[in-house]
Amino acid sequence: MALEQTFSIIKPDGVRRNLAGKILSRFEEKGLRIVATKMIHMSKREAEGFYAVHSERPFFAELTEFMCSGPVVVSVLEGENAVSFHREIMGATNPAEAAEGTIRRDFAESIGENTVHGSDSLENAAIESSYFFSQTECVNSAT
Ligand code: ADP
Ligand code: MG
Repeated sequence: MALEQTFSIIKPDGVRRNLAGKILSRFEEKGLRIVATKMIHMSKREAEGFYAVHSERPFFAELTEFMCSGPVVVSVLEGENAVSFHREIMGATNPAEAAEGTIRRDFAESIGENTVHGSDSLENAAIESSYFFSQTECVNSAT
């Protein structure tokens, strides 16, 4: 087991439906600790930069429009195997395929508007966290 940090977003559909607190609680209840969090409203350019790896995918325009359609809650979460554990709590990208009890199964409305984002590797977690947070905004580990 390794103590890791991952990067998490509650997407505009989650914030719009007033689910931000409920979703952060799920992460906390399962043992992930918030080391940084804030609400932001991304510009189109920021959304395009964040999802640059998907720029060739057919859903890129739809995805980046959606991500700047309203405020989101960005967080850095810490815990044992946080990267994969956070993805497990989120569930599969497509809510129709997400396991029972996962956030996407319980709340997501479609494969595009799927309520949460989570980093897919430790390396990307560090890149994504630093895209939205400065070092001074992340507290030192409280564990
Ligand atoms: P994940 O968020 O589970 O890591 P991906 O990295 O593959 O999934 O995709 C990034 C985001 O792009 C997804 O969370 C979803 O919002 C959107 N997306 C992925 N696949 C599709 C699709 N087939 N149609 C529309 N949007 C999609
Ligand atoms: Mg991804």
